[in-house]
Amino acid sequence: MVHFVGAGPGAPDLITVRGKQYLEEADVVIYAGSLVNPQLLEYTKDVCTIHNSARMTLEEVISVMEKAEAEGKTTVRLHTGDPCIYGAIREQMDILDEKGIAYDSCPGVSSFCGAASALNLEYTLPDISQSVIITRMEGRTPVPTKESIQSFAAHQASMVVFLSTGMLEELSRRLVEGGYSENTPAAIVYKATWEDEKKFICTVGTLAQTAKENDITKTALMIIGEAVNAAHYDRSKLYDPGFTTEFRKAVK
Ligand code: SAH
Repeated sequence: MVHFVGAGPGAPDLITVRGKQYLEEADVVIYAGSLVNPQLLEYTKDVCTIHNSARMTLEEVISVMEKAEAEGKTTVRLHTGDPCIYGAIREQMDILDEKGIAYDSCPGVSSFCGAASALNLEYTLPDISQSVIITRMEGRTPVPTKESIQSFAAHQASMVVFLSTGMLEELSRRLVEGGYSENTPAAIVYKATWEDEKKFICTVGTLAQTAKENDITKTALMIIGEAVNAAHYDRSKLYDPGFTTEFRKAVK
């Protein structure tokens, strides 16, 4: 059995109870060493074999899983944040299907949630934005052209940009081209929930300068939109005394 497990954004106590239990039981762990906090490996048994996938190809990862399976062992494939966001899990699962190896997936706290907690931020303020766009700039790996930053910027929804810390001048340029003003609030959160977490509130126009001044070159998320520091927003209807819900009658 292979368990794909979300490690959470960084702090070792932000893995789920289930994910921790899988780690405690695992005979083999393959962890994404570039981003997963190695402290999580302390939850494993002494006899557990540990592999760092940062130095491995897909084929090598699969071959470790295959060998473990042949020996009747349980493998945990530990991905940063939640495996469903830029986790490259589907390609592993498809090969496991071909090989008849059983697997399941255990969610984790994605870094975009960890970053929101660092800022005490709500992405979905009632009249500000009711959507969160999760995207990235294209770098050495492409993004479908229909998903350009400019096209998403047109929505003025809350936007979280992954994997793009080295391209912030271009990011700002595209955000403005798409319709954001240079003064739109933005934030950079570096290593959200890690001990060396850093967070900066800036604007669309000052993203690159803020990163440069603070030496942020990787492991960061850029958050864009009025939700970052909106001074005025509507209260929720759910907790409005004048609003009847399934569970509560409005007070007249
Ligand atoms: N599956 C992960 C994302 C993997 S892609 C998740 O759900 O969070 C790797 C990118 O995620 C990094 O380049 C960075 O943009 C972001 N990231 C991962 N952990 C982070 C953290 N603790 N703080 C800020 N950004 C993080």
